[in-house]
Amino acid sequence: MQPTFQTVTVLGVPFINTTAATFLSTLQTRIDQQQATFVVTANPEIVMYAHDHADYHAILQRATYITPDGIGILDGAKILGHTLPERITGFDTLQALLAWGSDHHKSAYFLGAKPEVVAQLGKILPQRYPGLNIVGLRDGYFTDEQAVATDIAAKHPDMVFAALGFPKQEVFIDTYRHTTHGLWMGVGGSFDVLAGAVIRAPKFWQDHHLEWFYRTVKEPKRLKRIAVIPHYLHLVRQQAKRARSSK
Ligand code: UDP
Repeated sequence: MQPTFQTVTVLGVPFINTTAATFLSTLQTRIDQQQATFVVTANPEIVMYAHDHADYHAILQRATYITPDGIGILDGAKILGHTLPERITGFDTLQALLAWGSDHHKSAYFLGAKPEVVAQLGKILPQRYPGLNIVGLRDGYFTDEQAVATDIAAKHPDMVFAALGFPKQEVFIDTYRHTTHGLWMGVGGSFDVLAGAVIRAPKFWQDHHLEWFYRTVKEPKRLKRIAVIPHYLHLVRQQAKRARSSK
């Protein structure tokens, strides 16, 4: 039996309330049983985007699982009186699934990132994950979306990782995920990290919940992501106040 997770809803987005380990084993069971699965790993920027875009919000509602990818989500849950045990990030989930997929000879399709990153992945992935059956590896700057979708469907991979950035990756997954019985997950900039094009924050910064700070200093374009946080927290506090007054 797979656990159905309790959720904590932050600004209309239901986050699963579980640990990364339990979530991972649930995904593995679903992949083994060929249950179609759509995973969104959401941070406050995604929540705010969904808050402002009804179409995107509807896509998130159709996801199988939404995980808290970002300390801001844990903070938001706390303001609402709930404790989510830990972040479940796209990058960590991707890495864990690839290692497991290699051990169990699963197939994976990689879609996204720039051509030079994909070329690098073509070298790294077979070395790092020798048992993984890589059935597709293509960059995210395609023009013929239908041809890409047809190729994925023809390969019927156990796992599809879409690294197109949001909202593009979730829109793509929502449109085509029913063409296979596998897992589909949006993984943002993870291919860049896997390929070594972007360096993840050292462990110290991760452990002190300061990865966002480290990465913003390294990549100032990420400031946009942080800029939404005050407004996000303000709206969460309003949600908390409404919840209290309706009791
Ligand atoms: N990307 C892509 N196709 C596009 C736009 C973006 O493949 O049309 C890729 C981009 O190369 C990068 C990823 O999507 O690898 C998005 O990275 P970003 O850091 O913006 O995503 P986040 O981690 O913030 O979701």
